[in-house]
Amino acid sequence: MLNIVIFGGPGSGKGTQSALIAEKYNLIHLSTGDLLRDEVASGSELGKLIHSFIDKGNLVPDQLMLDILSRTIDNLNGKKGVIFDGFPRTIAQAEALDEILEKRNEKLNLLLHLKVADEILQERMLFRSKTSGRSDDTPETIKKRIDIYHQVTAPVINYYRHRGLYHAIKGNGSGTVETIFAEVSSYISAYQQKR
Ligand code: AMP
Repeated sequence: MLNIVIFGGPGSGKGTQSALIAEKYNLIHLSTGDLLRDEVASGSELGKLIHSFIDKGNLVPDQLMLDILSRTIDNLNGKKGVIFDGFPRTIAQAEALDEILEKRNEKLNLLLHLKVADEILQERMLFRSKTSGRSDDTPETIKKRIDIYHQVTAPVINYYRHRGLYHAIKGNGSGTVETIFAEVSSYISAYQQKR
């Protein structure tokens, strides 16, 4: 099994790259943002609660996130592994992911960090807001999501660094989806060759 976390700030290209990775390496693309938005769209009480966090640019509390994830993850079969997009976003989630994978007799194999400067994240999300229809793509919420990324999510990198599975990829200005994907692929292919 090949389990990969794609890491980066909001608007760093995680979703785009994850979709390409999932297709090329036959992995399940698990986006926690999409999972949560599906629950919101269902109109359930739980969905309303989730919306109240997303809408303000806050993270959904860990326990709630993990409950929703565990409902999904038990049914994930049939592919060669999972690309985790938007998860883990806190140290507690990183610990939980280790436990989840351990129970499946698996482990996290790679963490790929798309590094993008804040100004570019902001620009991209403002551009995306014109068509995304996402209630959390407003200028104030975008700023808050970037702040929370730095305060709460970026420290998750330290949790993994000593394991030798961390790779940083420049996702900034000059790179295109294709050139970034080429670099992403090179790390995955190199990992597959060495094991
Ligand atoms: P994303 O689509 O990954 O940008 O996520 C959109 C929003 O969903 C985030 O701003 C959070 O409010 C929520 N969210 C997504 N993934 C997580 C997570 N792993 N933990 C907590 N909240 C999350």
